[in-house]
Amino acid sequence: MSTAAPATGRAPARAVGVDIGGTKVLAALVDTAGAVLAEERVASPHDWDGIRDVVVDLVGSLRTAPEAAGGVAGVGVGAAGMVDLDGVIHYAPNVPGFRKVPVRAELEAALGCPVVVDNDANVAALAEARLGAARGLRHAIVITLGTGVGGGILVDGRVLRGGHGFAAEVGHFQIDPDGPLCACGEIGHWETLASGSALGELARRTVAAGRGRAILAAAGGDPGAVTGEHVSAAAHGGDPEALAVVDRYAYQVAIGLVGLANIFDPELIAIAGGLVNDGDLYLRPIRAHFLGHIEGAAYRPAPAIVPAALGERAGVIGAALAVIEAHARPENRPGVGG
Ligand SMILES: [Zn+2]
Repeated sequence: MSTAAPATGRAPARAVGVDIGGTKVLAALVDTAGAVLAEERVASPHDWDGIRDVVVDLVGSLRTAPEAAGGVAGVGVGAAGMVDLDGVIHYAPNVPGFRKVPVRAELEAALGCPVVVDNDANVAALAEARLGAARGLRHAIVITLGTGVGGGILVDGRVLRGGHGFAAEVGHFQIDPDGPLCACGEIGHWETLASGSALGELARRTVAAGRGRAILAAAGGDPGAVTGEHVSAAAHGGDPEALAVVDRYAYQVAIGLVGLANIFDPELIAIAGGLVNDGDLYLRPIRAHFLGHIEGAAYRPAPAIVPAALGERAGVIGAALAVIEAHARPENRPGVGG
């Protein structure tokens, strides 16, 4: 049974989105309104052959689900890594097997339907732009603060892909030439100061310097076990040293946002990641430092800085929207957004 859509004619109003992460592969059947009709997840295999087999299995399962009756427009894939305009993944820091892998070509051959591949943060940004925190806007930036820092940049309604597909690697611009070593091998990239991991590192340094007793207590007294979550716990309790760590980290996040806002002039910046679950604990000082440093702060409208809205499903929803939009406007394939 072929469930692929015909190349011409009215596109099915559903697609499969796949999010290939370092720890899990999440796949979902998604409609044009972004509703997740069915989903499956498995732990990420460690090489491309294993990942490809898993993706083919998950997509096959979702395409034969009752909710997929009528067929799907195609398969959208978001993957952590550098994805070019032909859907070739050149490099992925978390998956050693991802080196110049023609992901789109191999999946189209295996699945017999249109496939679009893009960076995971780009498809998440597309989802937030169409259906989430930046809905209805034409200029927005979506930042994910996790193990690293990912980002997607919406320019005039489209996700910025650059000349080769590698645009918006926002975690990897240098803001401190004397800063820590980045996972990419360079020094002082924003990611080394603004990621969730960087918050944990800042907290461990604070504790090692004899401050942050409430943070240490939240970690059960083990300095090596301190993470960002312990900072949040102690800060929620009002501990001034924990609040100082929050403020320093918020500054480190904000100065990167300032640089991006000065360049791209977004209407809104949405932040995804665990720390936005802490209400305004981090967002309030991020906004304050941001307004303190953006160019011409007193003489311009500043972008709102808000939590992202779609959570861990932003990737699968955005990947599905990418292939639906590409199908609706074939001249845009294989680009995204379109
Ligand atoms: Zn870097």
